[in-house]
Amino acid sequence: MEKDTCSTCGSTKIIHDAAIADLAHGNQKKELSIHIQKTDNRFFNKFEKGALKAKICCSCGKVDLSVENPQALWEAHLKTKNI
Ligand SMILES: [Zn+2]
Repeated sequence: MEKDTCSTCGSTKIIHDAAIADLAHGNQKKELSIHIQKTDNRFFNKFEKGALKAKICCSCGKVDLSVENPQALWEAHLKTKNI
C-alpha cells in the first residue's frame, strides 16, 4: 500500500512513481534499474531487471525507492544462491 505521508516529516506533498533517469549524451534518458543475475554461466548470464521508482517528499526532500517486481527479483536472487 502506498502511504500518502512522508515517513520522515509527515508531509502530504508526495509525488508517487516518479521515474528515475540518468541523462546520457544528448540528454538521452536512461532509466535506472536494479539488475539481479539469474544464471551462473561464465559468459552470457541472464538478468532480472527492475526499474526504480521514486516516492518524493516535496517538503523535506526525502526520496524512497522501490521496484515494481520485487518477487521476480527475489526469485532470481535465490536461483544464483542454489538454495
Ligand atoms: Zn518529508
